[in-house]
Amino acid sequence: MKLSFAAPAGSAAAVSKTTAEVCTEPDSAQSSDALIEAELDSECSSEMITLQQSPSPCSATASLQDIEGCRTEAEPAVSDVLFETTNTHFSLPSTCATVEKIAFVEMHPIQPSNTECDDLPFKGSDFYFRKNVNGDLIRRSWLTCRVSNRMVDAYFCSICIAFSNSTSPFVSGCTNFRHCYQAVNKHETSKSHCDAVNTYFTIKKDRNIDTLINRAHASKKKKDILQNIEVMKHIFDIVKLLAKQGLPFRAHGTNESLYNLNNCEINHGNFLEIVLFLSSYDDPLKNHIEKCVLESERRKKLRTRRLLTKKTAGRGSLVTFLSYNTVKKVIRAIVQSMKTSIMSEIGEKRFSIQVDSTQDVGVVDQATVVVRYVKEELVKERLISVLPVKDASGRGLNELLKSSFQVLGLNYKKIAGESFDGAANMRSAYVGLRAQIAKEVSNSVYIWCYSHLLNLCISDCCDVQEAKKFLVSYIG
Ligand SMILES: [Zn+2]
Repeated sequence: MKLSFAAPAGSAAAVSKTTAEVCTEPDSAQSSDALIEAELDSECSSEMITLQQSPSPCSATASLQDIEGCRTEAEPAVSDVLFETTNTHFSLPSTCATVEKIAFVEMHPIQPSNTECDDLPFKGSDFYFRKNVNGDLIRRSWLTCRVSNRMVDAYFCSICIAFSNSTSPFVSGCTNFRHCYQAVNKHETSKSHCDAVNTYFTIKKDRNIDTLINRAHASKKKKDILQNIEVMKHIFDIVKLLAKQGLPFRAHGTNESLYNLNNCEINHGNFLEIVLFLSSYDDPLKNHIEKCVLESERRKKLRTRRLLTKKTAGRGSLVTFLSYNTVKKVIRAIVQSMKTSIMSEIGEKRFSIQVDSTQDVGVVDQATVVVRYVKEELVKERLISVLPVKDASGRGLNELLKSSFQVLGLNYKKIAGESFDGAANMRSAYVGLRAQIAKEVSNSVYIWCYSHLLNLCISDCCDVQEAKKFLVSYIG
């Protein structure tokens, strides 16, 4: 359509077109573009008449002269005007009205190409777009650049400028081009940005195509998050079950690879086998596993054909929650949660400790630390640490104990008593751990562990044949 007059500055039609003009979607989204064009054509004629009578909703839009296809040839393009703009297009007074904020957001993004700028300091396809889980390119419509003298001198988040109270560089103007990709990724997932986007969508009630598309993205993201939470709940429960039963988690070699997960003849290890078993009865988990397996198979094919570079060899943005790294993180999270709970139960109460060490299968001396305390008239006994021992002397063990307490936030001076075995490094009244503790907590009580005493007694008794027979018959 061809009109002989310009749209009023800041009109909804003008700013919508600006967004569509500067924000051309990739090929995959051409259908969306067509819809936007159709919407704009229908909007043009009606909005021209109504908006000419109303004042400009936002002073920052004063230089928005026209709509593509609605301007005369002598008039400059919107992008030409914007690229020569100053700070007025990248700041808003905090007191401005909501309608002005929405109009401000809609006149962005300004995302110049190589032809519109000299020497872009970033690669447009990586900077202006992000990849979703399916590998589709999604334009960052919030990301906008300030151009001066055909050079990008700063980049901003238009939504945060309008709807966030944060002091992020994306509000005042980010000039870090060296790490611009990381900065953009970090900002995109920050809480302040997500809050600002939510506020924008909540406030913006008009149902134009852009809003619907963005809402669909936001809704999809929310759905993905909820599904991931459900999957993580299952993973936590499985880890807890295996730990409770003392069962190993992992399998051998490539048996844990996700592209092998559909092969029933392979033992995938206890963790993955339980995950598969549960997925038969749980749709969200089943969907998640199917997605992970498909992606893993696709990547394996690419790897076989050597199409994956070192840079793209990972799983990309796909989070599986099924790797041994996830299991490790879950175990650490559970351990931390348990320790925090135990520490809050102990509080400022006094407690006693039991410490003993032994070698593990890797021939590393490991010391276990157990605390005993009273809670609601019941004695609680909790394992709080398993520590590798480098110095097995009384002094070395004491230092190890103190540093462990410091990490846990446990008060060393609150030790009421300690119980160890009869080894000299533990029990010696002069150089043992017992003596080291007594130096700093003089009223603590040492007790030679009765279980160790009983064990020694029974072992010695078994040297006598009659006593051995008696014990065996007694124990049954
Ligand atoms: Zn932002």
